[in-house]
Amino acid sequence: MEGKLNVQTENIFPVIKKFLYSDHEIFLRELISNAVDATQKLKTLSTRGEFKGELGDLTIDVKLDPKKKTLTVSDRGIGMTADEVEKYINQIAFSGVTDFMEKYKDSHEPLIGHFGLGFYSAFMVSDKVEIFTKSWKDAPAQHWSCEGNPEFTMEEDKKHTDRGTDIVLHIADDCKEFLEEGTVLQLLKKYCRFMPVAIRFGEESVWVDSETECDKDGKPKRVEKKQPRIINDPDPAWKKSPSSLTDEDYKKFYHELFPMNFEEPLFQIHLNVDYPFNLTGILYFPKVRKTIDPNRNKIQLYCNQVFVTDQVEGVVPDYLMLLHGVLDSPDIPLNVSRSYLQSDGNVKKISQHISKKVADKLEEMSKKKEGEEKSALEEKWDDIKIFVQYGMLTDEKFCERAMKFYLLKGVDGTYYTLDSYREKIKALQTDKDKTVCYLYASDAEEEHAYIEKAKAKGYDVLLMDSPLESHFINLLEQKLEKSRFVRVDSDTVEKLIPHDDAIPEKLTKEEKEKLQPIIEGEVDKQKFTVQLESLEESDAPMQVTQSEFMRRYREMAQTSGGGMGFYGELPESYNLVVNINHPLISRVLNETDTEKQKELVHQLTDLALLANGLLKGEALSKFLQRSVQMI
Ligand code: ADP
Repeated sequence: MEGKLNVQTENIFPVIKKFLYSDHEIFLRELISNAVDATQKLKTLSTRGEFKGELGDLTIDVKLDPKKKTLTVSDRGIGMTADEVEKYINQIAFSGVTDFMEKYKDSHEPLIGHFGLGFYSAFMVSDKVEIFTKSWKDAPAQHWSCEGNPEFTMEEDKKHTDRGTDIVLHIADDCKEFLEEGTVLQLLKKYCRFMPVAIRFGEESVWVDSETECDKDGKPKRVEKKQPRIINDPDPAWKKSPSSLTDEDYKKFYHELFPMNFEEPLFQIHLNVDYPFNLTGILYFPKVRKTIDPNRNKIQLYCNQVFVTDQVEGVVPDYLMLLHGVLDSPDIPLNVSRSYLQSDGNVKKISQHISKKVADKLEEMSKKKEGEEKSALEEKWDDIKIFVQYGMLTDEKFCERAMKFYLLKGVDGTYYTLDSYREKIKALQTDKDKTVCYLYASDAEEEHAYIEKAKAKGYDVLLMDSPLESHFINLLEQKLEKSRFVRVDSDTVEKLIPHDDAIPEKLTKEEKEKLQPIIEGEVDKQKFTVQLESLEESDAPMQVTQSEFMRRYREMAQTSGGGMGFYGELPESYNLVVNINHPLISRVLNETDTEKQKELVHQLTDLALLANGLLKGEALSKFLQRSVQMI
């Protein structure tokens, strides 16, 4: 029989060929999915008792013949009768492809998955496609052939007696890479790695004990043996029930998914939902330390174990893109554009569900088990903190949940929930306006002197050192009732948390007016603002501080890029705080020899800079020389 496909445009084949040029490779996924479906259908018929014959070996075979330039996909599934080829291949599949082209011909956005192109995607890489098929029903085998134009032939095929379907692609000259074993293997590994029916392709070597030869110790010799290579794992961990899996199983599966990731994941969440949408999958928490991995495509999206994409923006909330793993859902629309995907109701629900599950897991981990010193969350906190912060900054709902388990860490390494920390510091660290002041350091080493001073006053100091911290602190100030965060070096310890009891000043107004220019004359005014303050006599004569507001906004501008540009360009500026109650400052004021006065001011400012790690290079050498002379 000969026939003409029901096509509106004669030229649909060249269009198929050009369409999705960069994604030619999906043809293999489409053909093997069809083979898997045909096999699964036969299994269903068999369990229902409708098919009574032997199932036999149902492995799908992929074969290359470089001489004939063919790639063949063979299954032992339900096959097709002549009527079915007419209906499914000539009519339905073809109208499917026409619809698909019609719908997306003007789309400039990349489509998710490209499902829907189906069988005809074979023409993207072939000059000619043949189908040899024999139905499980008692009907003669068929041979269908089409050369990439709307004409096809179909005839009975007397040679073919075995049930199932062979799809033979005569690979076009400009697609020769699909005749190379390496390329095809890579594609099979990408798209078919977890398909639910075994797929055989080529051979692999294994080392086994020889049955005939022995080595000199009399033990069987190890010999290389070739065996057919099965490229997939038909029963992946995410499809199993969580209760049947151990932590080791999860880790093993992680390495199966990401053979190039050598670090162990921290923990995982196994998703398993039937209603109101279907979703399975495993999400792993990797270690995220100081930097956010720019290579974020570590979540693979599957549809019934068929790989779709590893670009899941829109399906998972942005902050969860830092996770690694697999998601499998037949309810995510696949042949749509990304912007459509993001507005899809199911996708939104799925995304919210994942976010909720993550919050559940973290909350559960925050509960201390009996007899344990630290909760599981405390154990892993340093590795996941930045991720939780990112989530709280970008997802309102997650933020609400996380306020309950978020952990603050003291400079001594103790962890506190937000509530328990507030309780701890409330008494001593509430200022005269009833605002609770949270003191923090960004670097325990560099800010050591300030931390010690704060501690001496009985204050507690937090360590807040993630790259998102300045944004995060702003968020906390909005979320926590009447509270303020101040870095320990942003002011003198008295003024970090201003209380009512001011210290009496030892200098008169006139004396202060006289002192100011003396000190200003010796410092770089671009960089330093001189501030005279009434501090304890026992405090340092001079200190360098950096305004919390200016510093935080500079940092935020630098980590958010754009939008806050103005702050990012601010020069670094400091306050030089002069303790007017200190005896050395009185000495400066009363010194009549101006040279000596200058030297003294220099020495005092340098000491303050030194305490702050700001005295460097030539200034440092000069300071050292001067110190020796003065001693
Ligand atoms: P889809 O798989 O999305 O239905 P396709 O164009 O890939 O669309 O296939 C159209 C139809 O052809 C299938 O639904 C199926 O009925 C039939 N078919 C395709 N490949 C096979 C096969 N290997 N064995 C049996 N039937 C097949």
